[in-house]
Amino acid sequence: RKGNVVVTGASSGLGLATAKALAETGKWNVIMACRDFLKAEKAAKAAGMPKDNYTVMHLNLASLESVRQFVKTFRYSGMPLDVLVCNAAVYLPTASEPTYTAEGFEMSVGVNHLGHFLLARELLEDLKTSDYPSKRLIIVGSITGNTNTLAGNVPPKANLGDLRGLAGGLNGPNGSTMIDGGRFDGAKAYKDSKVCNMLMMQEFHRRYHEDTGIAFASLYPGCIATTGLFREHIPLFRLLFPPFQKYITKGFVSEDEAGKRLAQVVSDPSLTKSGVYWSWNKHSASFENQLSEEASDPEKARRVWELSEKLVGLA
Ligand code: NDP
Repeated sequence: RKGNVVVTGASSGLGLATAKALAETGKWNVIMACRDFLKAEKAAKAAGMPKDNYTVMHLNLASLESVRQFVKTFRYSGMPLDVLVCNAAVYLPTASEPTYTAEGFEMSVGVNHLGHFLLARELLEDLKTSDYPSKRLIIVGSITGNTNTLAGNVPPKANLGDLRGLAGGLNGPNGSTMIDGGRFDGAKAYKDSKVCNMLMMQEFHRRYHEDTGIAFASLYPGCIATTGLFREHIPLFRLLFPPFQKYITKGFVSEDEAGKRLAQVVSDPSLTKSGVYWSWNKHSASFENQLSEEASDPEKARRVWELSEKLVGLA
């Protein structure tokens, strides 16, 4: 049978390119989990994705109720779940004030981390029962959360601090909207959320890999300077960022190429190792990359896991 893979945020950018790469192999049914149903359907058609190889399902990660509803709808479809890709994200670098999810969490961490955390925890049960030979749970990470890299050292740097803001539920005005309890900063909130993504992948690995055989992985697909992720940025940045990445840092990667990389992590028989953060060298060969100290701190991972469980109603 075809494999069933859920990809969140498959209506544009990396998610769409990945969905397309997988659908075109004919070996996958891609469940495109998107907040805008019509946009996803149009994007799939415009990308020329074979109709029999994808299904669009509604998921808004900015609402935990929507996450629970998605899980119900998916189960109702009767499809087994073989691979889950947590890809969707928001990046709000120019926001001067925080915005909030339905439950009142700051938006970047609420969508990128908490929404995905609940989704992944719920769908873990479905992955466990699938009879697919190579089950995987993938959480897209980023270099920007890794302070052991040049890109990760551009201020404001990721820093989860002692997690006091997360413990307080990330919802000002009296509690802080930032994980470390500091003042709201949209660019930092995004980086912090990516550190949480990478920490959670490792915590899933520690807690569940041995018993379930599921491979947990994260990756940095390269700098895809053309995606909608930068839509909130100032116009000059949007104009200069792609050529800067292409010619100066040489970290630029096309959406197509990045989609192929993530598709490899979904289906390549050689990328089955669990607990790994994948990156690609300049010849587009994959390798196991090192995470920064904070993004690989097991004690921090455990505490983020426990606090997040409380916030999403799992504990
Ligand atoms: P895009 O903005 O193109 O894609 C993000 C996707 O997430 C969109 O499909 C968007 O939906 C979806 N999304 C946003 N909010 C929600 C929500 N509340 N519920 C459901 N879906 C939502 O950005 P990219 O493709 O660049 O980003 C994809 C991933 O790649 C992210 O995890 C990002 O951190 C990561 N990444 C990107 C890099 C880059 O250089 N671009 C580098 C490293 C990592 P909609 O289409 O409706 O807006």
